[in-house]
This record gives sequence, structure tokens and C-alpha cells, in this order.
Amino acid sequence: MNNNIAPVDCLERLRILDRERMHICRSAALLQWDQETYLPSGGIEERAEQLAVLEGLAHEKLVCGEVGELLDKLRDSALKEDGDLQKSADGFPVKDFIRVLRRDYEKAVKIPVDFVRESARAEGLSQAAWVEARKHKDFAAFAPHLEKMISLAQQKAALWGWERGRLYDGLLDCYEPALGVKELTAVFGPLLEKLQQLLKRIAARPKPENIFLNCHFDEHKQETFFREVLSALGFNSKRGRLDISVHPFTTTLGFNDVRITTRYESGDPLSGLFSVIHESGHAFYELGIDSALRFSSLAEGASMGIHESQSRLWENVIGRSRAFWKPWFPRLKDYFPAELGDTDFESFYRTVNTVFPGPIRVEADELSYSLHIILRFELEEKLIAGQLSVNELPVVWRAKMKDYLGVECADDGEGVLQDVHWSMGAFGYFPSYALGNLYALQFWNSLNEVLGDMDEILEQREYGKIHSWLGENIHCKGRSADPAKIILDVTGLPLSAESFFHYIEQKYAELYGL
Ligand code: ZN
Repeated sequence: MNNNIAPVDCLERLRILDRERMHICRSAALLQWDQETYLPSGGIEERAEQLAVLEGLAHEKLVCGEVGELLDKLRDSALKEDGDLQKSADGFPVKDFIRVLRRDYEKAVKIPVDFVRESARAEGLSQAAWVEARKHKDFAAFAPHLEKMISLAQQKAALWGWERGRLYDGLLDCYEPALGVKELTAVFGPLLEKLQQLLKRIAARPKPENIFLNCHFDEHKQETFFREVLSALGFNSKRGRLDISVHPFTTTLGFNDVRITTRYESGDPLSGLFSVIHESGHAFYELGIDSALRFSSLAEGASMGIHESQSRLWENVIGRSRAFWKPWFPRLKDYFPAELGDTDFESFYRTVNTVFPGPIRVEADELSYSLHIILRFELEEKLIAGQLSVNELPVVWRAKMKDYLGVECADDGEGVLQDVHWSMGAFGYFPSYALGNLYALQFWNSLNEVLGDMDEILEQREYGKIHSWLGENIHCKGRSADPAKIILDVTGLPLSAESFFHYIEQKYAELYGL
């Protein structure tokens, strides 16, 4: 490269390369979305090949020598606070861009392209095997794929330079920069204990009646209701869409194209609705990223934990509150007069917030949920450290479910096979969900201080006020700030489980008369 090339031109070139890579990544995301929504089962093997090619291309785009040289040249200029560079950036945070891209580059450059292709291919096959194994409750059919995914994850963390005993920290770092097993154990350990105690106190109280028992809720009506809620919440159908998948998820295909999915359960209209609200929280985050960051590596969430804080804030703190349901319960009754016509509000609210420790994570109540996550965190940490074998996993899973939640798993379909994450090799992802709960309550407390009477806002369905605050304080920043900085800047405090536990304890003490 010509050494005399001006920093402004270096930045321009780097942004072009970054933009092209983002386009490839999002094209791959479209194929992935299609795989989980509409792809006929016969297309699965070829799709795995297609994804492998695209992911290989995106990887090559990032690790090419030119990116490294441009980053080196720009680091010096950015550090010197080069005036021309800032001016040409037009509101684009140059320093953060270089910092984030360098982190991505240094990680990617250590992974050979053949390894990336092999991983993508194995991932496609593993996911397909998981879908079948889950359907037939057949862990043995999935076990070899899981072994392969664990081995690939271990190799990847080792390539990044993490030592043998700390490989899991390297994987965590992909989802939540700067948090390791030590930090998580310090937060999750006391939380596990407190939640277990609270769960025992609740178990000793009478169970509220389930108002949905023996009801059938027409799927088409459910869908129409979900779409009405989604639109009222502020989801813009010109910038996204809702579809169906086995495991609800959100994916970003472009600045104006965020896809969410849900599933419909005929016996419970709220299961799918809470998935819709949860995924819309993710979508609002993605759609709220500052347009100055568009097409760049900064146009993503700060971390998976911060992402989950947004979905959990909407799903649980807002979506399971009395104030939220004041205007929506009568509307739900309009859709299902025969099923819910005689139900009073309080019984409905109690059904929405019943604590019922069960085997399935995505159906868990707010209290049990974090216990499901801590269980997975402990197991995957041991799997990656080589202290737990795939063969032992189903038995250890059952034992921990019994210990933490008092639940017996009838089979592996509702046990170790229930989640898609390990089939995708996403080890280190699970803690994000529990972190999301913790961050969500920290943000919620700050939001309350600024906006005042949240009950009034929710009863009046003035969701725009909440979007504005979240947008300005969290969403617009994208990846330009790290999670630790965001939580400190917005709340004045570091990560802590205190606000979350206080909220849970208060909510359930009132509900169960503790
Ligand atoms: Zn989520």
C-alpha cells in the first residue's frame, strides 16, 4: 500500500470494505432466516454449503491484508485526533469504528478460512440433526454433532489465544466483551441461592388457577391479535416482518429490514404473544441504531446481554405488568369472548405471572428463567473445559433440573435437546439471557426516574416515550460503546443482580402473599 495515502482516504477505503462485508453477512442471515422459516427439508444440505461459502467470503473480506494495513495507518491518525478525519466522518464515530473493527479483525485473522468453512458446514448439518433429534426425543442421534460443535468451539477459543483452562472465557467474550467465568460466577452464585429460596417459599403457597385450562384459541385469531399489539407497540411493518419458526428469533437483514418470528400454541395465546413482544424488543434495538452507523460494523447491538435487556424489558417488565394489561385484556377478550368472557382481570394477571417451575426454558416464568440459564452456564462451561462428556450430559442435566427447579424431565426432548444454541455452536451465549434480566431492571429503574409514573404511561399505551428514552440512551449507540460503559453511563452503576432480585421479590411477594 502507498504509505502517503491520506488518512481520510484510508478511512473511506476501510468503510467500503466494511460495508461490503456487512452486505455479505446480511445476505447469509437471509439464507439462515429462510432455513428456519420456509426452506423445504430437502434443501438443507445445499443450504449448508451456500452458507459456508458466504461465511467464508465474509471472513476473507475481514482478514485481508489491506484491512490490517488500513487499521494500522488509521490508528495513529485517530489517536492524534486528526481534524480532517473527524470532519470527513460526518457524525461517524471514527475512533470507536477503528477500535471495534480492530477487535473483530484481530479475532478473525487468527481463524483460518478453511476452519470457518468447516464450522459453517458442520453447523448447518448439526442444526438439521438437532431439529430431527428434538422431534424424536433422540439424544443419541444428536450426540456426535454436539461433540463436533464442542470440539470446534474449543479449537476456536484456542486459536484466539485463550488458555486451556479458560477456553470458555474466550467464547463468552464474543457475546459479552470483558465478562468471564469469574465475574459471572460472582453475580450468578448469590442470585441462584436467593432465587432458589424464593422459589421454595412460593411452592409452599396455594397455586393460582390456570384460566386457560381446557381452552382452544384459534391460531388465526391469535395472529391477528399479535399483529395488533405489535403495531401498537410501534413495530413498523415497512421496516420488518413477523413469521413462524420452531424457535422464535430476530435477525437483521438491513437497516430497514428486521425479521422476527414466533410460534402459535392452541392452548395458550400468551406463549406466542410473549415471544412476539420479546422479539420486538430486539427489533426496536436494531431499528433504533443511529443512521450514521448504517452499513458499518457498528450497526449492531453493543452485546448480547444488552440486546436481551431490551427484549426482556418489553416481554417481562412491561409485558407482564398490570398496567400493560389494563388496556389489552379487554381487547384480548374481544378476540376470544367464548374462552375468556367470564374471566376477571386479577385472575388473568395471576395466570400471566404464575410461577410454575417446568422443564422448558422458553416457557419459564420470570423467576424460574434465570435458574434455567445458570444451569446451562454451569454445564456448558464444564463441556468446554472438558470436565463433562456429551454422554454424561443428559443425566447431569436431569439432576440439576431437579436440584435447582425441583423439576423432572420426562424425556430429552424437554430436557437437554430443547434449545437450538448448542447445535449452532453458540457456547457462551446462554449467560446473555440472565444478564439481560439484570441489565433490564437497572435500565428500568433509570427510566422510572426520568419518566415518572410508568403505570400511567403503560395504561395510556404511550410506548413512544419509552422508545425515545431507550433510543437516545442505548439504541442509537449501536456497537460504538461497550456494555460496561453503557450500563455505567445510563444508570451510574456497574452490572449488579440487586435491582433484578428486588423487583422479583417484590412482585411475587405481592402475588403470593409472602
Ligand atoms: Zn432474546
